[in-house]
Amino acid sequence: MDITEVKVRLMDSPKGKIRAFCSIVFDSAFVVNDVKVIEEARGLFVAMPHKEFSKHCVRCMVKNPIRANFCNRCGTRLPSGEPLVDVNGHVKRHRDIAHPINSEYEKLIQEEVIKAYNIALKNPLDHLSAGKGKDGQELNPVGGTPQPGMSKPA
Ligand SMILES: [Zn+2]
Repeated sequence: MDITEVKVRLMDSPKGKIRAFCSIVFDSAFVVNDVKVIEEARGLFVAMPHKEFSKHCVRCMVKNPIRANFCNRCGTRLPSGEPLVDVNGHVKRHRDIAHPINSEYEKLIQEEVIKAYNIALKNPLDHLSAGKGKDGQELNPVGGTPQPGMSKPA
């Protein structure tokens, strides 16, 4: 399976550690959205899309992150509950939606996305600002005409 295109949407004013949202196209036929480029102290890294677990407030029913101790909206103490633990005993806070299952392919994806991100950084004028959308949901669907703000790896 080849990566045929990486679309990069740079964050206009980076919130936290997220530098860009990306879409990866495989074999010109299959796209994975919501891939994030994250800057950590040790460098850039690529996060594949995942879904954060959440829990509902017992009082106002608002959804809160699994880690939250108090409700974001009403401040009610949330039950700690049993942590979800994987086979290795690590606490799970999210579930992967799409991800490579071997390290070679994972490395390839990381390299291609970082490469596309660096190209996008050098051509900031080609980019639309990523002003709206919470988790990169606003990324343009694949298949139409190329959108401004997207770039291909060279
Ligand atoms: Zn609440």
